[in-house]
Amino acid sequence: MTDKPKTPNDPNNGADAPSGGFAIDFSGSTASPAPTAIPIDLGQPTPAAGGPRATEASDGPTESKLIIVGSGPAGLTAAIYAARANLDPIVLAGSAPGGQLMITSDVENYPGFPDGIQGPELMQMFRDQATRFGAQIIDVDVDQVDFSGRPFRLWARGTEYKGEAVVVATGASALWLGIESETRLRGRGVSACATCDGFFFRDREIAVVGGGDTAFEEATFLTRFAKKVHLLHRRDTFRASKIMVDRAKANPKIEIRPNTAVEEVLGDARVEGLRLRDTQTDEVTDVAMEGLFIAIGYKPNTDVFRDWLEVDEMGYLVVRDETRSQVDGVFIAGDVHDHRYRQAVTAAGEGCKAAIDAERWLESQGIAEASTATAW
Ligand code: NAP
Repeated sequence: MTDKPKTPNDPNNGADAPSGGFAIDFSGSTASPAPTAIPIDLGQPTPAAGGPRATEASDGPTESKLIIVGSGPAGLTAAIYAARANLDPIVLAGSAPGGQLMITSDVENYPGFPDGIQGPELMQMFRDQATRFGAQIIDVDVDQVDFSGRPFRLWARGTEYKGEAVVVATGASALWLGIESETRLRGRGVSACATCDGFFFRDREIAVVGGGDTAFEEATFLTRFAKKVHLLHRRDTFRASKIMVDRAKANPKIEIRPNTAVEEVLGDARVEGLRLRDTQTDEVTDVAMEGLFIAIGYKPNTDVFRDWLEVDEMGYLVVRDETRSQVDGVFIAGDVHDHRYRQAVTAAGEGCKAAIDAERWLESQGIAEASTATAW
């Protein structure tokens, strides 16, 4: 292990503790009386069977022409391209590798799978393809980075990795309300993934929290299973697009409840009800409910990069010229910057672009010979 850097903007300058990476972060989840959104890694809670298994930090190489951080569709596609271009990439995959598709059941819009495919199975295929060409995949969370000069330095579980170029593809994670009972009953009626868990709520009465497109989309989707879906939103105006709101209003199975906040999820072993607060009158009522879906947005996994890379007002990394960052030699791909499309196929496409850009850049530095044919 080597010294970790002290960065100019670090509020804890001098502290040696990891800055959080993109693993689960429950910090403050029970301390705050007001529900506060917290990020949690989507891959962690219920890894479905058939997906990539986590491996411990390897005794393998720690230096490479290219280090890729993240192992969703963007990171692993970058790994496939980089490995085939003889860049010997090291993928620091995270302790819950595979990204958001690891908790997605049926993926029906990824081209090439006319009958659909399970998310974990798809990610295992990505991973097999990357390792087939020699990518080294290590399932560790990056704690800290130093992008002040080359080689770029990254730390994960006490090991320092060095790369002449880096692709950041750490994705985004679902936000949670941050109340204790929500955490306690996760997987027991509380979920952040309607696609994954909707099936289990057949003929049940359930609720969705949020007022954006995700909440309306999930509420509409859940009516395929549930007998009734309550859409709970803390205000009386919605961020969701009008068409999504109109569609929900027209759905007899959806009841939209504005000015409603979830104070508590009730139940010991499973969700049995919700304690709701009227945000205008502060009146509190308990209602029977068998499930709660949290759909309040996403947080990009950028914590470890914030001292070095620019973020926008929503916290997403800022890209320039397709995949470049403000640091020459550091490239960006996937949901960590993309809050517009957020699709597996667009992330994969960006992983491809980032690897090609890194390859060309390494060639320009005299470190690698570019071999991928492009029209540059
Ligand atoms: P969003 O637009 O940021 O909406 C998040 C919603 O959750 C807001 O209504 C917010 O309430 C509420 N919220 C946030 N924190 C909360 C908390 N702690 N407690 C209670 N409520 C909370 O996020 P999103 O719906 O995930 O959408 C993100 C982006 O993806 C948007 O650009 C959206 O258009 C896009 N998207 C598009 C589609 C589609 O077109 N099919 C589908 C999904 C998402 P306030 O309004 O009070 O802040």
